[in-house]
Amino acid sequence: MLQLDVLSSFAICGAGALVGAAMLRPSLSHDAAGAEALRLCRGGYALVGLGLLQPVALEIPLPLWSQAAMVFGSIGGVVMIGWALAALAGERIARTAMWLTLAAAFVLVLAALPAGTRGMNVVCTLGLAAASSLTAWLGRRLLWRPRDVHERLIGMTIVLMVLSSALRASYLLTWSGPYEPHLMYVPPMMLTPFTVLYGVLPVVFATMLQNVINARLQARLHQRAMTDHLTGSLSRHALTDGASALIAQARQGDGALAVIMVDFDHFKLINDRHGHMGGDSVLRHAVQVLQGQLRGETILARYGGEEFVVLAPVSDLPVARRVAERMRQALEETDWRQLVPGLVKVTASLGVTLLASDESLEHALARADEALYRAKDGGRNQVQVGLAAA
Ligand code: GH3
Ligand code: MG
Ligand code: MG
Repeated sequence: MLQLDVLSSFAICGAGALVGAAMLRPSLSHDAAGAEALRLCRGGYALVGLGLLQPVALEIPLPLWSQAAMVFGSIGGVVMIGWALAALAGERIARTAMWLTLAAAFVLVLAALPAGTRGMNVVCTLGLAAASSLTAWLGRRLLWRPRDVHERLIGMTIVLMVLSSALRASYLLTWSGPYEPHLMYVPPMMLTPFTVLYGVLPVVFATMLQNVINARLQARLHQRAMTDHLTGSLSRHALTDGASALIAQARQGDGALAVIMVDFDHFKLINDRHGHMGGDSVLRHAVQVLQGQLRGETILARYGGEEFVVLAPVSDLPVARRVAERMRQALEETDWRQLVPGLVKVTASLGVTLLASDESLEHALARADEALYRAKDGGRNQVQVGLAAA
């Protein structure tokens, strides 16, 4: 089996850590926690990488300062990755605590200098076991309750770090030979697998971190596209996407689908009298009032400015009309003065129709819109029905 020498092992592991750091360089996160995780992880891997690569230019036996730099780089880097995981897992742990831990690691390495190579071995092995256990604790949410496969893989890389450092610690504690300056206490046959593990782990970890951050960004963009920013109701995108399920359901069963257009009356006047902020508050609250009248699987989406569309499974047209009437009445009966001082009444006109068995949603919407115009012409604050051609 291929046997790597210790310097090659350092070169591979150090290069792996620097590649991990470089991979995260172009990554961007939309939220502060993700950006913090990226920054800390980059910093952590850079520290590990530099610590491991500097002895490559030297000769074995490594001078004590080089051993000390390697020990501090490895422990410090793992500590920083621990804080990166805490940020990713949503734990709020003060950054000061990280700087204090790094300072403690530095002091420990300095304190071990007089004990020479033996001191470096003990601090390196036990320090790494402690730092990876701390990392596992900081990222415990990812271990116990991963939200997706990427978080689960991150949890697995942490477990590998803890297990491998525990193995190295137990091997050092049972070691009876002289202390070696290479600090890699693994059974000789394990040196190559360990090198591969430590060389690959940062790249896997960096990839998973990017995946977690990208998945979060994707979920946020999807949520934004589906939600109307002002009112919190569904957006027009969501109406198109969600409609197909309701339409399919209505066509399979013996029920029908009510298509209702809602347009607020004289909304320009509300804006003119109470300002756009007042108008915005009215729209936000009106959505809650309308939603309060809808049950079960319905869609309430903002169609345009102060126009909304409701899709509701119903048994027949009279029921569809009653749903629309309930919404109209609820708006009329709301006390708006609490929300916008001086605002007495908010009303809406509604057009309602049923989706015919073979027509498109756009077609039914046009009929509901036409009924809505009749409601406006008829004096507003009323419901008008649009009948599909037989
Ligand atoms: P009608 O009874 O005929 O519908 O009268 P209207 O004043 O409501 O007429 P129209 O539909 O033409 O005007 C809609 C107004 O709604 C104009 C626009 O400024 C206002 N509006 C649209 N979107 C918003 C919004 O997000 N916030 C606020 N405050 N006003 C909005
Ligand atoms: Mg209007
Ligand atoms: Mg309008």
